[in-house]
Amino acid sequence: MAKALGQMGVVKTARNLLTLNQNDGFDCMSCAWPDPQGRRHTAEFCENGAKAVSWEGVRDTVGPEFFARHSIADLAGQTDHWLEKQGRLTHPMVRRDGGTHYEPISWAEAFALTGEHLRGLAGPDEAIFYTSGRASNEAAFLYQLFARAFGTNNLPDCSNMCHESTSVGLRRTIGVGKGSVSLQDLHEADLIIVSGQNPGTNHPRMLTALEVAKRDGAKILAVNPLPEAGLRRFDNPQKARGLAGRGTPLADLMLPIRSNGDLALWQAVSLLLLQAEDAAPGTVLDRAFIESHTVGFDEWEKHIRDLDREAVLSATGLSWSQIEATAEMLAGSKRIVHCWAMGITQHHNAVATIKEMVNVALLQGMIGKPGAGLCPVRGHSNVQGDRTMGIWEKAPDSFLDAIRDEFGFEPPREHGFDAAEAVRALRDGRAKAFIALGGNFVAAMSDTEVTAAAVRGAEFTVQISTKLNRSHIDAGRTALILPTLGRTERDLTGGREQRVTVEDSMSAVHASRGRSAPAGPLLRSEVDILCGIAAATLGDRHDIEWAEFAGDYDRIRDRIGRVVPGCDDYAEKIRAGGFVMPHPPRDSRTFPTPEGKAVFTVSPLEVLTVPPGRLILQTLRSHDQFNTTIYGLDDRYRGIKSGRRVVFISAEDLTELGFADGDMVDLVSEWADGRDRRAERFRLVEYPTPKGCVAAYYPETNPLVPLDSQAAESGTPTSKWVVVRLIPAAG
Ligand code: SF4
Repeated sequence: MAKALGQMGVVKTARNLLTLNQNDGFDCMSCAWPDPQGRRHTAEFCENGAKAVSWEGVRDTVGPEFFARHSIADLAGQTDHWLEKQGRLTHPMVRRDGGTHYEPISWAEAFALTGEHLRGLAGPDEAIFYTSGRASNEAAFLYQLFARAFGTNNLPDCSNMCHESTSVGLRRTIGVGKGSVSLQDLHEADLIIVSGQNPGTNHPRMLTALEVAKRDGAKILAVNPLPEAGLRRFDNPQKARGLAGRGTPLADLMLPIRSNGDLALWQAVSLLLLQAEDAAPGTVLDRAFIESHTVGFDEWEKHIRDLDREAVLSATGLSWSQIEATAEMLAGSKRIVHCWAMGITQHHNAVATIKEMVNVALLQGMIGKPGAGLCPVRGHSNVQGDRTMGIWEKAPDSFLDAIRDEFGFEPPREHGFDAAEAVRALRDGRAKAFIALGGNFVAAMSDTEVTAAAVRGAEFTVQISTKLNRSHIDAGRTALILPTLGRTERDLTGGREQRVTVEDSMSAVHASRGRSAPAGPLLRSEVDILCGIAAATLGDRHDIEWAEFAGDYDRIRDRIGRVVPGCDDYAEKIRAGGFVMPHPPRDSRTFPTPEGKAVFTVSPLEVLTVPPGRLILQTLRSHDQFNTTIYGLDDRYRGIKSGRRVVFISAEDLTELGFADGDMVDLVSEWADGRDRRAERFRLVEYPTPKGCVAAYYPETNPLVPLDSQAAESGTPTSKWVVVRLIPAAG
């Protein structure tokens, strides 16, 4: 409430927080945790949801006067927190080639300038169309349509940086790149595994679901290098006992696993489950499920029975008895939900680890039945919806065929650039224009200096944004900032009340409608801006009715209903209150893989080691942060106040490396290209982390993650595994 009242005042606070995540309200623009079906709590939000709404609803604004006062060079010297704290963008602004300041521009001229630059490119693949996970389904559908009508599949998105490994791993094993559970399944589970995820900060309403499950007798297993508060206990402020501090203990077992030890853990657990089944046939494995719904079991079983126990112990940093306790929890459970996030997806072998987690689920038939399944928890409110709508540089032919049949043009078939390849293309001059639908690409992407220089080298950039951020500073030679409506704001585009739609982590699709007055009279919706740009660039090419789309979003939904798989009768279903996307493995234990069955996969066990005196860094969020948005400088669940340049390190490593709690160091990462990447002046904080593993916040440590350090198969930056050394800081 302190944040909300301070930034929005009483009336707006009440209006926004009482409609947040409510039926016929607006969807939280922060994480993608689902809303309960049916009746909602009066306060159906968490602290970080309130922070996100307050951050968007702030009364301060950034307009022509602000940009006249602040040159780009001056803004470059400010922190990310300071930039966003300045307020909501209110006017279209342009920085002309060689200019030192942004200056106002009219919408019409901004659209014309964009069209001119895009048509001036040597070819459509010189343009990149980036999407952040806040974009609505309607905006995302139009954006991919525009990019493909323009002639390119260069549609990288923030999913490339986060759950791409999940999408690749699940598509290969169960045939669908999405989680297979509902909120009800979490409530009905008797074991919930939380791997590489910090729900207390990144998906806080998940704690309510864990509390419900715990109170119904479920067990919780947490697998995480850090002993996160949100995994230990939850004092639910919406419950008397929570307010009185007698909350709900959560994890029954916490495994302080070494970074990247998860694949080894699940192979070892599988071995123990196989041995338990040997000892008591028919009590552990779901043989009927394995026989009727899977392929590849025998080859996988052979691989697991040859497992190297010592390799498991050095990879996990755990004791064998901890692993045995874990296997006992699984063997004793009938309904298991496995949740995970970035701690699993941002590693070289992340796809292999996710496939191994699926193997364990298949072993016990934990998919396609109540209370069981796979639950990758998405970090951005509509990142899953954007992918469903076609924001994907590797869209399948079936989707492109549907675009052709619906809109009468042949879309490009060659796969486009993902986020990392987009940076390389800009760096190498293969791309010259970068359009961003939301987000803060420069700060969110790895190898910050390389990414920033690549974007600055572009001839032309467009940022469709709500607030000022780093990507407006490190922008192209000619750069546009186009201010858009936020989720909290009324959208009266086309002279009517417009709704947009989103899809959460559990595939539930529903409408979102803001109630507050826009932060400024010139703001336009994402849909309206995209239609303006598309019309100015393509003119009447392909005869697509951009203006009509902007006037009535139901026309967009009608097209979505005819093009996007699983979205038949989309507009009608949304009017009826929303629906859940089909998921054959969840719905009917049918697996749309090439084999037509769920697939057991064999992944070699790797024990990643580092040279002496080096450490494994994982980048993470503080509690006062959402992605690259820094709400404040505290991280109260980890005991940090008023500072972000900290490194969490174990007492053992401090002693071994000759440092002490409080020492100031520079972090230097080492990579195959022989180039040292440095991030300066971090305070060492003694903290219970596994030996050899340290942690620090991003975006401050994104400069340490090499661009080419990507997960195999998915290309996700390996932000949870960066080899670093500590150097005493100068002065
Ligand atoms: S759990 Fe996520 S979606 Fe829900 S209110 Fe909190 S931040 Fe928003």
